[in-house]
Amino acid sequence: MALSYQSTRGGEKGVTASQAILRGLAEDGGLYMPSEIPVLPVPMEKLAEMSYQETAYAVMKPFLTDYTEEELKGCIEKAYDSKFDTEEIAPLAKAGGMYFLELFHGKTIAFKDMALSILPHLMTTAAKKNQVDREIVVLTATSGDTGKAAMAGFADVPGTRIIVFYPKGGVSRIQELQMRTQKGSNTSVVAIRGNFDDAQTGVKRLFSDQELAKKLADRGYQFSSANSINIGRLVPQIVYYVYAYAKLLSHGEIADGEPINVTVPTGNFGNILAAYFAKRMGVPIAKLICASNENKVLYDFFSTGKYDRNREFILTTSPSMDILISSNLERLIYLSTGCDGGKTKDLMDSLSSTGAYTIDAGMKAFLSDFTGGYATQEQDAAMIRELFQKTGYLVDTHTGVAAAVYQDYREKTGDETKTVIASTASPYKFSRSVMEAIQGLREEEDEFALIDEMSRLTKIPVPQAVEEIRSAPILHNRECGRDEMKQEVADILGI
Ligand SMILES: *Cc1c(COP(=O)(O)O)cnc(C)c1O
Repeated sequence: MALSYQSTRGGEKGVTASQAILRGLAEDGGLYMPSEIPVLPVPMEKLAEMSYQETAYAVMKPFLTDYTEEELKGCIEKAYDSKFDTEEIAPLAKAGGMYFLELFHGKTIAFKDMALSILPHLMTTAAKKNQVDREIVVLTATSGDTGKAAMAGFADVPGTRIIVFYPKGGVSRIQELQMRTQKGSNTSVVAIRGNFDDAQTGVKRLFSDQELAKKLADRGYQFSSANSINIGRLVPQIVYYVYAYAKLLSHGEIADGEPINVTVPTGNFGNILAAYFAKRMGVPIAKLICASNENKVLYDFFSTGKYDRNREFILTTSPSMDILISSNLERLIYLSTGCDGGKTKDLMDSLSSTGAYTIDAGMKAFLSDFTGGYATQEQDAAMIRELFQKTGYLVDTHTGVAAAVYQDYREKTGDETKTVIASTASPYKFSRSVMEAIQGLREEEDEFALIDEMSRLTKIPVPQAVEEIRSAPILHNRECGRDEMKQEVADILGI
């Protein structure tokens, strides 16, 4: 049976998967959700023998029912190929009693590549299926990693343009260089004088601006989104949790049916939500441990049932998690209300007018699969150092937050269930903070000198993604205030 999509705010129903991917965000400002979460179509013992690409097809097909087998397989083949530096695509590494699911072997060395390698193909296929002849303008807010990964995916893809907004001063040096050296005649990058939440809120506002939509349509454009609010991001992210379980099974690390825990370093709540979907599809996941940095709005939410963004925004050494409005939480809230669009809308209205909302006891009980934790920058650095000294395994600052939160959880609860940590970025992407964690402050040194030293120390070759930007020219110099995003878009598109 065909699965359809509906808005979390009740305003839209019966949307096909390809339409939902094309539109990105529902017209009422809600996020698209499948009418049900399908179960895994293949038993785990079979999945244990499958390649990443085969697993991707098995997991994604039940969600993307209006894509033909040929279309979906074509998208998967183009996405998960030699762009990844390992055939396994998402390998597991065991260190310090944890299983690190390495999601950073793609083109931009962060986990965003897992979904953004395939999203452009899903979107251009969707455009063909729906006879869309307008040029698709992908608007994206980034906390640092989405922007580069989305541009890498959309660069020079016919029929698309991509505009990325990132917080000036709120990303790592490598992240900024990666974005500002991006080639492709259809790519634009804008630094905004604000934080990630400003960028994300601004993008959402542009989406629901009817006057702008009309102007765009007149000029032959239409917006879509590459942010994790797009269901075309969420679905490909479910794949690697299924794959991780299947690989643990085939490597003899677990018995079939044995529960595992999953710990995810979280910002916009997309990655951990994908893990929850994997659980609902039938993967034996017990606890979902949501790890935050000092912007611990999610930790407070899971502890108290109150979501409150009214607090100071802290710039940390894990900038991709510096977020106070976790957009994808809306999808979980929607499920916890029993898919009540009206109730979800009321809570989200409260979030935008007062910056806070509180869920009721029934909803809170629904969330019992989740537990929240957070790590300070010092705890993060200590974890990176300890793991490296004891095992020789080096993680980035985001993965360090997850590992620290997990260790704390294990000590406090005595829960010894085997645990997969989502390892979301290569340490090379956050070279300064990682080197400081293992060797102390390094204020004077050049970023690339640090990178070379990291390579000497770890004997891991410098990834291609970093070599590429060492001497690449800066191609993007746009900057705007947080209230000037609309003019900036108009200027870029010449409308
Ligand atoms: C985006 C990102 C995260 C947060 O993922 P969400 O899906 O937004 O929760 C964590 N770590 C890294 C390195 C990221 O790029």
